[in-house]
Amino acid sequence: MSTRGDRGVAIVTGGARGIGASVAERLHREGLFVVIADVLDAEGQTLAASLGDASSYTHLDVTDEHQWAAAVAHAEAVSGPVTVLVNNAGIVHNQRLEELDEASYRKVIDVNQVGVFLGMKTVVPSMRRASGGSIINISSVGGIIAFPGVISYVASKWAVRGMTKAAAQELGEYGIRVNSVHPGIIDTPMTSGTESAAQTTHQPLAHPGEPDDIAAAVAFLATAESKYVTGTEIVVDGGFTSM
Ligand code: NDP
Repeated sequence: MSTRGDRGVAIVTGGARGIGASVAERLHREGLFVVIADVLDAEGQTLAASLGDASSYTHLDVTDEHQWAAAVAHAEAVSGPVTVLVNNAGIVHNQRLEELDEASYRKVIDVNQVGVFLGMKTVVPSMRRASGGSIINISSVGGIIAFPGVISYVASKWAVRGMTKAAAQELGEYGIRVNSVHPGIIDTPMTSGTESAAQTTHQPLAHPGEPDDIAAAVAFLATAESKYVTGTEIVVDGGFTSM
């Protein structure tokens, strides 16, 4: 049994609930020290407390560069240089192109795309101090194909896929790997009460996925099991994009 945190230090954005919470729990089980970072302070603090040792919560709005610097400083202060960053925080805005206003479009880009840029940029010096690391960007099947009614989301998630490959090419020399994970329809607060689940009925595995299906892919990318994997994507979608 490993000592808590001896397998590295992870920051998980949007880690208070949904996929992020499942990722935080899984990485903690894998022996990493996990810093849960979110704007949902009460939920994040409760989750960190429930994990116990080798877990901490910090407030982080991923669109704010200063808050990113504070979050990385927090992680370093409580546990040491960051070795894993999971850029998971994301939002969706459902509106067709003709009705969509510029502010709503920019907000999704700001959280889903600029947030990932700021996270990758801010964490690099810390990962270099750790002599390497793994950045895992949560994109979507909306970053592989496209859907109507969510053009800002699709734009942001395709961007994340491309940014992942560009960053992988720059950061390989530091031993930093960068990959993206592309969930299909997963049962979380983001999709509950929507008609998303109905979209799964014709896919090979005809049901929504669970957050821990995504956490398993993240765990692979977060550990040395994937030490020769960088600049690529893992699609976890029940076969949706195979159709
Ligand atoms: P949830 O909405 O359940 O959780 C996302 C978390 O991110 C929430 O706690 C949310 O807080 C937080 N968040 C939102 N904006 C910010 C911000 N600016 N800074 C920090 N945290 C923020 O979503 P999911 O767990 O479903 O999704 C997680 C990721 O997976 C997202 O990137 C999403 O796009 C992606 N994904 C999800 C799919 C699914 O079917 N669920 C499918 C494909 C991709 P708040 O409630 O305040 O917004």
